[in-house]
Order: sequence, then C-alpha cells, then structure tokens
Amino acid sequence: MRSVIDVLDLTRAEVEELVSTALDIIANPKKYSEKCRGKKLATFFFEPSTRTRLSFEAAMYELGGSVLSVPGASLSSAAKGESVADTAKVVSCYADILAMRHPKEGAAFVAAKNARIPVINAGDGGHCHPTQTLADMLTIFREKGHFDNLTVGFCGDLKYGRTVHSLINSLSRYAGIKLVLISPEELKLPEYVKRETVIPNKMEYVETENLEESLPELDVLYMTRIQRERFFDVAEYERLKDSYVLTAEKLSLAKKDTIVLHPLPRVNEISVKVDNDARACYFKQVENGKYMRMALILKLLNSAAENKEKTPLNCEKSLVFEKCRCKNPRCITSQEQEIEHIFTETSNGGKSVFRCVYCEKEAENK
Ligand code: ASP
Repeated sequence: MRSVIDVLDLTRAEVEELVSTALDIIANPKKYSEKCRGKKLATFFFEPSTRTRLSFEAAMYELGGSVLSVPGASLSSAAKGESVADTAKVVSCYADILAMRHPKEGAAFVAAKNARIPVINAGDGGHCHPTQTLADMLTIFREKGHFDNLTVGFCGDLKYGRTVHSLINSLSRYAGIKLVLISPEELKLPEYVKRETVIPNKMEYVETENLEESLPELDVLYMTRIQRERFFDVAEYERLKDSYVLTAEKLSLAKKDTIVLHPLPRVNEISVKVDNDARACYFKQVENGKYMRMALILKLLNSAAENKEKTPLNCEKSLVFEKCRCKNPRCITSQEQEIEHIFTETSNGGKSVFRCVYCEKEAENK
C-alpha cells in the first residue's frame, strides 16, 4: 500500500505531477467535486493542529468524500494505552485513507506498516511534515514559477522544525539551491540532515545567526516558530523563544520579489504589520495546502485501487537488526516497547552509522 511518510517517498516527478493536479483543481474545481464520492478519510491528530487537519478534511469534502475524525488523543483509545499499530489496523476497517499526526517521531511509519490503507504523515514529532512541504512547493511554484536556482533562507528553529527538514529534502532534488540557515547555535539544522541530504546533493549552504545580514540575498524566506513542545528544558525555550522577529523594517532589507513563507501558527516571529506586504505569502500557503492535499488524496486512493496485492512500504530498505537500540526519547520506539528497533546503515566519513528507520536519529550500541 502506498503511503507518504516523508516527502522523499514521492519522486521529484510525482511532486511536480501533484503541483500540476493542484493547479488543475484550482482552475476546474467542478471536475474534481465527485472524484472521492463514497470514500472516507480518517483524521487522527494526537497533537494540536488547525490548518493541517482542517485542510485535510476540507480537501476530502471538496473531492465529494467524507471524513471520520477523532477529536484528539485524549478521546481515542490511545488514552487507554492502545498502540499506534493497533489503531492503524482498526482504522483500516472503517476508512479508505488515514491522515495521522503524532508527537512521537516515526509514529506514522509504524501506522503505515500496519495499516491496510494508505497513510499520510501529517507531522511526526520534530521529524517530517510532507504535506506542509507540498503546500510550500505549490506556493513557491505559483509565486516564483520554478524550483531551481533559488536562495532559500530558513530562520528560527531548524532543529525541531519538521517543516524545515521536509522542505530541504524536497528542494535537494533541484539545481542551484542555496540554503541560508539562520538560527541560534542551539537550534541548528540536525547534522544528519546536512550529512545525508544537503552535502551529498551538493546544496550550497551557510549557517548564520544573523537574519538582517542574510535578508538581501534571499529569494525565499521561510520563518518558523520555536517549537516549544519539543523542549525538555522550559528555561531554554524561554531564552530562545524571541530569537527572531521579522518586522516591516527588517523586511525592507529584502529584495522586491522575495517571498516570505511560514508554516504557521506564528507566535511572534512575524509582525502583523508584515501581513499587508505583497511579499507575505503565508496565508496563500494555507490555501495551497488544501489543493495539494486534494491532489495527494486522489493520487494515493487511485494507486490503492490499482494495487491488487498489498505491498510493503517502499521506504523499507536494508535493515540491520539487534545490533543497537534507538535512544532518542522522542522516537515512537521509546513509547511503545514492542516495536522492533530497526536501522538503516549509512556512512559518516567512511565509518558505518546506523540510523533508526522511524526517527532517523543515530542509534547507539546496545
Ligand atoms: N504547523 C507546523 C507543524 O505542524 C509548524 C508549527 O507547528 O510550527 O509543524
């Protein structure tokens, strides 16, 4: 069954095909209004959400389908201790497709391994958020007309910001991308993203703490919220929370055609005075998210209909068992004891490194 856990589960051509479908939906909404008649989307959100959940639900309704929804983890059997795997098996009995958000990294992967229906990761901890990336990609395409040769500044929480990790994955397939990674030292982009995505794909990058100095060269500025819910140390969050605020004055340093994106919600990273600037595209991004989710639901339901046999997840690569354990406290394996700890083998400067398949963090020897 085809699921989307990471944006890299879709090829570059497939992402571009989704962009084309979304543009066609925007131009001809009637053509799509009955495409999912009789189909059901289940939305399971074990973490707060406004846009992602509502846009999935709006997307399904606009395709003529219907929605089954559990209003939060506390009202589902997760509160009684049901595992993600069991939840996925149960939902497969009622729905045709599942969109799931979970605070633990890798939870959507576990759901996809156990479901009989396509699973879409609607955000797993600080790991990935592929459908936000689809919204970002459509926005970049509609505003800039291309994906190549862009200087993209990511500003704020690059460590826990899952939308940052996913968008970098997606942009890594294009030529001439330069990343300007603007963050406090404590919230820098994780090493594994640099080592396995940025560097091998020859993406040019600089790391800096200075937003103002970076602004004049950017084609895209991607602001992010400091992810309070991922900090174990509240004092550290308090110290870092106001690291960057984009004001109208600062934006005056940017080019006339720079676009400002933000996955939202914003806390105070962008002054409301910026909202009226033509370069502010974050509310357009919200709308684009619905069209891309429509395109993705259609694609996955079509591919599920064509699949006569259930196939394993395409992201299962070479797995190494029993040598090590994932010690990441944010990984789904830390919450659910019976999940098998499995790893992919990669290399770091000639040395073998085992990475957890669920959260992608480096494993430690048992
Ligand atoms: N809405 C985005 C997410 O779910 C960004 C954020 O929460 O800051 O990751």
